Amino acid sequence: MPLHSINPYTQKRIKTYRPDSAHAIERKLKQADKAFADWSALPVRERIDYFRKVAAHLTDNKQRYGELMTAEMGKTLKEAVSEVEKCALGCGYYIDHAEQFLADEPIRTEARRSFIAYQPLGPVLAIMPWNFPFWQVFRFAIPGLIAGNVGLLKHAANVSGCALAIEEVFTASGLPEGVFQSLLVESKDVEPILKDKRVKAVTLTGSEKAGAAVAATAGSQIKKSVLELGGSDALVVLADADLAKAAETAVQSRMQNAGQSCIAAKRFIVEKSVKKEFTDRVLQHIRDIRQGDPMQDETTMGPVARPDLADEIERQCAESVQQGARLLHGGERNGCNVQPMLLDKVKPGMTAFEEETFGPLAVIIEAKDEQDAIRLANQSNYGLGSALWTQDPDKADRLTRQIQAGSVFVNSLMRSDPRVPFGGINLSGFGRELSEAGIKEFVNIKTVWME
Ligand code: NAP
Repeated sequence: MPLHSINPYTQKRIKTYRPDSAHAIERKLKQADKAFADWSALPVRERIDYFRKVAAHLTDNKQRYGELMTAEMGKTLKEAVSEVEKCALGCGYYIDHAEQFLADEPIRTEARRSFIAYQPLGPVLAIMPWNFPFWQVFRFAIPGLIAGNVGLLKHAANVSGCALAIEEVFTASGLPEGVFQSLLVESKDVEPILKDKRVKAVTLTGSEKAGAAVAATAGSQIKKSVLELGGSDALVVLADADLAKAAETAVQSRMQNAGQSCIAAKRFIVEKSVKKEFTDRVLQHIRDIRQGDPMQDETTMGPVARPDLADEIERQCAESVQQGARLLHGGERNGCNVQPMLLDKVKPGMTAFEEETFGPLAVIIEAKDEQDAIRLANQSNYGLGSALWTQDPDKADRLTRQIQAGSVFVNSLMRSDPRVPFGGINLSGFGRELSEAGIKEFVNIKTVWME
């Protein structure tokens, strides 16, 4: 089946891509295997040097790449350009730290010399989603490649233009042929690629369904996998929170990228005594959102990426209303342009509480008190990135440890930052990206013991 890139705002087809033939896939696998031998033999410093060029190329071309992202999946051009900038920043972080992270680590034993060496695994398959079409790929590729692995990207079917543009970033920056390649394949054709002996590991960012399928295949071949999956993260607002800042950040967290972010605050859990004021403030910020053409500067929210995603978020909202929630804002839709929605009186058992909502839908859940808020926050099958709003540092310290998630951000926007690990627990997946933890996911932690 051809891969179609369709502009979600105009609904016009941008381009159709022919999937790689079996012959082309074999050629790319061969190329990856061959490239790995030379690339992995380079000193880390030399691999790092290539990433100075990658960062410069991204910066020089951020407008062009931003426009491509906006056209293919609908995020605003401003968001898209800053996503490219973030990729360049990610390069900067590992340029500064990777050599230290990958250096041999001496261990004191009775041996004459003993140490840990961090060595690459080989070609790593990266299966990536469309919501942050550049950043998701770069946050794997920068540390993964600097560690000495080579990358094979299977991008989401609706962003094949981005997949090829990312390959272009690496070739234009002078990385040797085969160090990073995009495979244009459908998800049904991934299994034999992952089973191929030359592919040593896999990282997937996407839904739990895809994660379970890919991890099962990887497991059947005893191959390492990292899974960055969905979330239904809580944003807990306690009675002593700075409500103005909490409400503004909550709406930003939920509505950026038209609500299509794994770490978006998907459940606002608010202590009863401040619920009315918080809800009023949230409603005001939602009213201020300007929908429209994502290429235009004044637009603050573009369309969702595909019509089926608009159908799904509408269904989740409608079901929750039938179950007793109250719609305070939204309810209109034009194609992929979904008016931002705010639901009040959401409770456990309702669709918007139980399912991951991947679109512009904010929900308010009332908590009786602090402990009830934490209980509700943890009442989820996921556990990716939560947020907690309180002005009491002792309370914050205590409660961050009670929230079950891969990250908890206090009085701040939950985000992925190269300096700190990123990943989830439970149905949100396993393994970590970014920081020192991320660069060590795809390495052989080799013990060397010399008498
Ligand atoms: P998806 O359907 O799982 O797609 C993600 C990627 O997996 C795409 O490249 C897709 O290819 C591929 N894929 C799907 N099924 C596959 C299979 N059986 N075998 C191999 N590859 C397969 O995800 P989505 O619904 O488009 O994206 C949204 C989901 O991603 C949400 O759940 C979101 O929370 C999650 N996400 C998580 C993170 C994180 O860091 N934790 C970040 C962003 C998004 P095709 O497009 O060709 O189907």
